Amino acid sequence: MVDFLHGNGSRVIIDDTNGLLYDRLTEAGLTVYRADHRAPSQLPLLGSAPAEALARTTLRDRPPLSRSAMGSGTHSGRDEELAGGYETAMAAVADQPAPGRFFAHGPRGEKKVALTFDDGPFPPHTERILDILEHYAVPATFFCVGLNSVAHPEILGRIQERGHAFGNHTWSHPYLPDLSEAQILEQLRSTGEALSTFTNGDAPTLFRPPYGALPPGPYDWLTTMEATTVLWDVDPKDWSRPGVEVIARSVLDQVRPGSIVLMHDGGGDRSQTVDALPTIIETLLDRGYRLVRADHLLERPVSEQAEARGTSPSTPD
Ligand SMILES: [Zn+2]
Repeated sequence: MVDFLHGNGSRVIIDDTNGLLYDRLTEAGLTVYRADHRAPSQLPLLGSAPAEALARTTLRDRPPLSRSAMGSGTHSGRDEELAGGYETAMAAVADQPAPGRFFAHGPRGEKKVALTFDDGPFPPHTERILDILEHYAVPATFFCVGLNSVAHPEILGRIQERGHAFGNHTWSHPYLPDLSEAQILEQLRSTGEALSTFTNGDAPTLFRPPYGALPPGPYDWLTTMEATTVLWDVDPKDWSRPGVEVIARSVLDQVRPGSIVLMHDGGGDRSQTVDALPTIIETLLDRGYRLVRADHLLERPVSEQAEARGTSPSTPD
C-alpha cells in the first residue's frame, strides 16, 4: 500500500479513530493528514471509517485537516480531546467507582514494578523485546490490539510460552469516547476472543483503553466484563521517539515502588524503546526492584479485597 501511494505522489487522509496507521505512513515519508471526521455514528463496529465515506465527508464538509508529524502521531490536532479522555479515566481511578477495578499503579509499599507494552504484537519489535525479557528472565504485560493479534499469532504464542501477561487494548485502537457503548463492547469482545486462544480459553481481564481515554461513566460495561482497567504512572512518551537515552532516563526518573510503566511495542518503529530496555531493566534490578506482571502487581491480600468491597469508595494515593 505504501509503495502504491508513493508511486502516485499521494497525500493521505485518514480518519481520526485509527491510531495504528499514522506512524507507519509518516515513517515511509508520506504526507499524512487526519480528517476531523466527527461522525462516530458512521463508523463501523470494528476498524476505521470506510474509505469512501471518509472521502465523501472530507470533500463535502471540508473539515479541518491536521498534518500528522512524527512527533505528534495519532495526537495530531486532537491533543485537548485526548487529554480530556485521559482525565476522565484518571478520575475513575481516583474515585474507584468499582473498587479494585481501576489502577494507575500498584501498592506503594513493595519494590515491584510492571513493565507494559502497548499496540502490538508487531514484528520485529515485539520479538526483540521478548528476547531482552528472556535474557534478564523478567516478565512483562502486553496490551495487544486485536487487528495485530490475528495477524501475528506466532508472536502471541511466544508471549504465552514465556509466561507474560496479556491485556486487551481494543480491536482497532479507537479513541473510546467516540464510540457507543455497544461499539466499545464489540471492540473488547472481539479482541478478547482473538487473545483467548493464548490465555487458556479465557479472555484477558486486564484492559487498557487507547490513549488511556475513557468516556464518562458509569462503567457498568466494564464491571459486567469483569475487566480491570490498567492505566500507568510512568510514561516516557517513547512513541514520540525522543531518543534511547531520554526514554531510559525518563522511566528511571519517574519510577517508584508499585509503578506501572507504559511503553510501546507496536504502531510504528519502536527500535528506540527496544534499545532503551536493557538499561531500564538492569538499573531497576540494581535498585532492588522486582519486575512483575501487571496482574500480579495489582493482586491484593484477600483481607484488603474484602475491605474494598465492604466500604465506600476510597481514594488511592
Ligand atoms: Zn495504544
